[in-house]
Amino acid sequence: MDASSIIQPLNDAQKEAVTAPNKALLVLAGAGSGKTRVLVHRIAWLVQVERVSAHSILAVTFTNKAAKEMLGRVEDMLAMPARGMWIGTFHSIAHRLLRAHYRDAGLPEGFQILDAQDQLRVIKRVMKELNLDDNEWPPKQAQWFINAKKDDGLRPGDIHHHGDFFVSTMVKVYYAYEEACKRGGLVDFNELLLRAYELWANNPHLLKHYQDRFQHILVDEFQDTNAIQYAWIRLLCNDNNRITIVGDDDQSIYGWRGARIENIQQFEKDFPDCKVSRLEQNYRSTSTILKAANAVIANNQDRMGKSLWTEGNEGEPIILYSAFNEQEEARFIAARIEDWVQQGNSYDDIAILYRSNAQSRILEDAMLQKGIPYRIYGGLRFFERAEIKDTLAYMRLMANRDDDTSFERVVNQPARGLGEKSVDMIRMQARQDETSLWQAASKMVVEQLLPPRAKNALAGFLHLVNELETSTAELDLWEQTDIVIEHSGLLEMYSKEKGEKGQARKENLQELVNATREFDPDEAIPDETPDMTPLQAFIAHATLEAGETQADEYQESVQMMTLHSAKGLEFPLVFIAGVEEKLFPHQMSLDEPGGLEEERRLAYVGITRAMKQLYLTFAEKRRIFGRETYPQQSRFIREIPDELLTEVRLNTQVQRPVFNRSPKSPIQRKGPEGFYLGQLVKHPKFGKGIIINYEGDGPQASVQINFEKEGLKKLMLAYAKLEPV
Ligand code: ATP
Ligand code: MG
Repeated sequence: MDASSIIQPLNDAQKEAVTAPNKALLVLAGAGSGKTRVLVHRIAWLVQVERVSAHSILAVTFTNKAAKEMLGRVEDMLAMPARGMWIGTFHSIAHRLLRAHYRDAGLPEGFQILDAQDQLRVIKRVMKELNLDDNEWPPKQAQWFINAKKDDGLRPGDIHHHGDFFVSTMVKVYYAYEEACKRGGLVDFNELLLRAYELWANNPHLLKHYQDRFQHILVDEFQDTNAIQYAWIRLLCNDNNRITIVGDDDQSIYGWRGARIENIQQFEKDFPDCKVSRLEQNYRSTSTILKAANAVIANNQDRMGKSLWTEGNEGEPIILYSAFNEQEEARFIAARIEDWVQQGNSYDDIAILYRSNAQSRILEDAMLQKGIPYRIYGGLRFFERAEIKDTLAYMRLMANRDDDTSFERVVNQPARGLGEKSVDMIRMQARQDETSLWQAASKMVVEQLLPPRAKNALAGFLHLVNELETSTAELDLWEQTDIVIEHSGLLEMYSKEKGEKGQARKENLQELVNATREFDPDEAIPDETPDMTPLQAFIAHATLEAGETQADEYQESVQMMTLHSAKGLEFPLVFIAGVEEKLFPHQMSLDEPGGLEEERRLAYVGITRAMKQLYLTFAEKRRIFGRETYPQQSRFIREIPDELLTEVRLNTQVQRPVFNRSPKSPIQRKGPEGFYLGQLVKHPKFGKGIIINYEGDGPQASVQINFEKEGLKKLMLAYAKLEPV
């Protein structure tokens, strides 16, 4: 591709940015104005026209997926592989650096990355060694403390506690944690960034090497960089480098994770000669969608100020749907998706966005029920989430003490002082006696085969599960669930996790209570319920839903994701669900300074993902923690001018939801040849199993079955010789 074809598909402002000879360039522009496009074309321009070596380019994106896409686009434009170019997220680039220079970074060659869960495990261990009681000193709080300090570039020695007992204790934990990581050759996510920074800060020759190498530094989504990321970039820049950053202050949505919008102003201070380029034409959305986004964000104070217009047509009005309740909201969305696809569009063109992770459960149900393929982008499906699996493990144990997997999962969750060693002893005992872990544990308690502390902890656990079962036996399933969440200590444990993540986990737990409250065993597992308690039936149902495979990457599918994950993406058709006060803006944000403005930026991000059509939906009734609430529609809806909206309301006379007919289960939708989801069948070779999915019909029909013994299998129905059981 030659110079003209690189700049031809750009408007004047974009061209100027792409070709700018300046050392420092700040592209500050609203959503959909082509910032990411400018970055891609600038890279191509540098290589193709300025004859810069790909080797000297460092580009930072916000997700690994975005990095892949960017590389693909650049290679397409150059019609050759961009070998030697470094492109990735801050984390992936830091990782690469540390691998290359592990010695200078003070790391062993085979150092391992710790994910958040592993990190917590290490923290728990060191806190135990420090004799810190985890009720008084929740490990999650320490994890949050350590990560926040690392985000700010602080080591334990840099933190002044000024006699504050909490801080001084946390600093002790931080020291011990560092020591443990060092011994184990372990590096957590934030450590990657801090280490990479220190690697350069402490090794001038290395820094010089990279300054000489990376003549061109480009950063997308700059508004969401945190202190350590910016400091790292800053180190790299000297008189020889050119740096391009692109961002939008109105889209800064990770303040809760340490991101600093101020980095944009800081950049202008640090690079006083920087050229500021503003892109004002939006190419993504219809004028209706854009007007709505502009109107909403105009309510924020302290904006850097940008205008955004489009030549695009007016398009369809934004549809505001007021649903009777959250199930009905989900069904409405599923029905609109079916219409859209029937009109010849692809599932790939559709995104469902929501503020709270917990909202996905009912939406997932509606998709499963209609057989709409979906993927949860950047997250787990409801029944795969850790807090849900923990609770279900307790419930499974209540129903069946010999469930070893569940036993292992929760015997020390929340922590009750049972170390790996004790659990190992239980495993050995079980192996020796050929019994379940539960039975082995009971024996070890009675016969005092464990050190007293561990024995007491274990006895406490056994008692807890027994109590949970007997004391709730007469209660409704949802009350049982509520009690399990509370009395197991899981709610308290997860509540101590700070910030958005802890909040999301709490909401998921609440959502589980809702799920059990709506659960109708007769509908979910029609063939088997006579012999099952509601608890058993629910567990079976949850297992089935978790067993459903996500649409695979190459299958066309609707993308479901939180608003946070939607950054940088675009879809012709976008639904934003649950646009209600307290949900969006989120209750939690209302108590925090600046919280509401960050929520509004999130609304701006959400609205501007839509290209052609946007639906905003909300429920007039929503269950929160098993309790009915009557939310009000979000203030963000009121901030959109009326003329852009068309309100659709449920015709209550025709569509009153029928109570007690749970819409949630995918069951009883007739599948090919009369088989249905959830049906128990028998296969001549694989034995008994449950149908969990099917595709196609006629000779092409295939079914996915979860076999008792053989696990998941996909079979062609024509050959499978299935018999109903
Ligand atoms: P966000 O703030 O959401 O990250 P952005 O500013 O990075 O958005 P892009 O994703 O680069 O915007 O561009 C938005 C859409 O507009 C893309 O589909 C892109 O291909 C298209 N686009 C950008 N510039 C032009 C142009 N000059 N002509 C035609 N289409 C364009
Ligand atoms: Mg972008």
